[in-house]
Formats: sequence, structure tokens, C-alpha cells
Amino acid sequence: MNGLKYKIAKIMEGRYGVDALYYALFVLWVVLAVINIFTKNTVIYVITLLIVILMLFRSLSKNISRRRRENDIFLSIFRKIRSEAVLLKDRIKDVGKARYRKCRHCHAITRLPVKRGKHTVKCPRCGEKFDVHIII
Ligand SMILES: [Zn+2]
Repeated sequence: MNGLKYKIAKIMEGRYGVDALYYALFVLWVVLAVINIFTKNTVIYVITLLIVILMLFRSLSKNISRRRRENDIFLSIFRKIRSEAVLLKDRIKDVGKARYRKCRHCHAITRLPVKRGKHTVKCPRCGEKFDVHIII
């Protein structure tokens, strides 16, 4: 067993390995593979093969800086999507209880109580004041 471990470690020496993008591709592969069990679609099958090839290519690549850059781009997009999803979840949870408005100066989202009319709001992040009009 130690001999196999050593051989794998020797193969992976100087190579990129796995990262967040690898795991995301793996999750996508699993989802598409499960869908393909029921649909038996050739296009989905080809996409799953391409995903596996991409995962192998990235993890065995020796161009570490480029793979790291790809992962950073993926993470910045993923974080943006995740924060938008959390905001959407909060907005749905607070329907009728709160309104969300974006600060024009720093673009921070502010949660406001539902009070009909025009109000001046002070941004909790940057301290700038801006007007909001809440219609119920
Ligand atoms: Zn602000």
C-alpha cells in the first residue's frame, strides 16, 4: 500500500491537484450523470465526459499559476452568486416586514422597516444619507 501511495505522490509532484473549481465540476458531473441515467441524452453524456477530462487536465496540470487564476475567477463568481442567493432568501423571508435598498455611494444593501412614505436613511456602512420612497 505504501508503494502505491508513493507512486501516486511521485506522479502528483509539481502538479496542481484539486481546488474549489475541481469540487464544483465534480458536483456538476454528479448532477448531470444522475440526470443522464433517466434521460439517456447523448449531449449530456458528452458534457459529462468533457467535465471529467477538464477535471483531470486541471488536477494534473503543471501550470499552477494559471490554474490558481482560474480558481480565483471561479471563486469570485461563486461568492457573488451565493451572496445574491442569500439576499434573495432574506427578501423572500421579509416580505411585508422589511424593504431592502442599495446605498448609492457604497452599494451596500440596507434593510429598512416597512414605513410608508419618503424617508432619509443613513447608510450603516459609509454614513452617507440618501432618500428612499417606500410604497406598500
Ligand atoms: Zn453606503
